Amino acid sequence: MAYWDEQWETKPLEELKELQFQKFSKQLQHINQNPFYRNRFAEAGLNPEDVKNWEDIKKVPFTVKSDLRDNYPTGLLSGNWGDVVRIHMTSGTTGAPTILAYSANDLEIWAECMARNFVAGGLSKNDIVQQAHGYGLFTGGFGFHYGLEKVGAKVIPTGSGGTDRQLRLMQEWGTTVFTGTPSYAAYMAEIAIEKGIDPVKDLKLKYGFHGGEPCSDGLRKRINERLGYRAHGGGLRVCYGLTEMGGPMSMDCEAETGQHVWADHFLMEIIDPVTHEYVNPGEPGELVISNLSFDSMPIIRYRTGDRIMVSTEKCECGRTHPRISGFLGRVDDMLLVSGTNVFPSQIEFVLLKHANLSENWQLVVEDNKGLHMMKVEIEPAVGSEVDTAFIKELEKELHSHLEIKCGVDIKDVGSLPRFEGKAKRVVDKRE
Ligand SMILES: [Zn+2]
Repeated sequence: MAYWDEQWETKPLEELKELQFQKFSKQLQHINQNPFYRNRFAEAGLNPEDVKNWEDIKKVPFTVKSDLRDNYPTGLLSGNWGDVVRIHMTSGTTGAPTILAYSANDLEIWAECMARNFVAGGLSKNDIVQQAHGYGLFTGGFGFHYGLEKVGAKVIPTGSGGTDRQLRLMQEWGTTVFTGTPSYAAYMAEIAIEKGIDPVKDLKLKYGFHGGEPCSDGLRKRINERLGYRAHGGGLRVCYGLTEMGGPMSMDCEAETGQHVWADHFLMEIIDPVTHEYVNPGEPGELVISNLSFDSMPIIRYRTGDRIMVSTEKCECGRTHPRISGFLGRVDDMLLVSGTNVFPSQIEFVLLKHANLSENWQLVVEDNKGLHMMKVEIEPAVGSEVDTAFIKELEKELHSHLEIKCGVDIKDVGSLPRFEGKAKRVVDKRE
């Protein structure tokens, strides 16, 4: 088992917890220099110096998405503006963007975390990597790029898109690693087969590091098989991260039992989203996360809205850092349909269990005189038959998983949209 930084990656969890507390306290004093936080703490009657134990951490107010939006552009800066060397932001299509500003040292920590992730996932400096996460305002491309380079791999910075060229480069260079969204990996496999390229025989892809959107187990299995990761002795590694914490930050190790979150840099707390109490270990809850190491714009106790499960058991890879052992949905992706919460990831979980269905699907939500109607449109797998009896069974299965009715409409192969970046699975036609 290879490590990037064995000493840190295998440090006993108790020692890491002690360090987390010290760093959290220090970060509180640091962000208390910022007027927004200072007012927020004062309103809560909190003096950062009074946080003396783990119980006290619960008194620190949460930071939420609207805090980031309301303070656009630089209102949440805690470090010196003069030290900022990079700014990333979300697209801001639904309001003010949220930004993250980084000092040179923040970028170094980010790259270090990503280097640990890549080596944990199996990457070595001999790998040839096509990095197809988008470069730009989005954090994915740069986060991956710097981590890959730090390990010493040979990076071809293709960015997303240009699928024909991606495939040509894979053949010419014997590319061993592909990074991009899971949807793009699935699309790449489809185009390869269309062009008569057999990824198992004609390509050398061994690892896929895929982030930017959730990846269901069904999709993971399909990509592993179709792009040849498994056949070449490797596998797909899921990446989890969020702009508010700097971008991509955690990844599957070779044991594939969840994404390690580096406890010396991030503090995870799992809460009941209603009562805000901690849930029992191993139970699902909302991830609240703090950045313990950044200087420019560290966000503390951020309510991610992501429903996850955490495992703190030592991993078979030898790493001691906690893992996200289950990802149940992202609140940003959640739909409210006739009073029921629906996560697109739940739908994909059901659909991809069936080998006669492709991974090309979308959910259409309509308003029929005040009644919300949900329908899955999906293409069959190439060469597969789908009959009426199957559709009825699938509708029943979706109903029992979603606790709300959902129709199924089988579409012609090739008729639904394909994605080179994040997939857009929901077509919401309601007002
Ligand atoms: Zn592990």
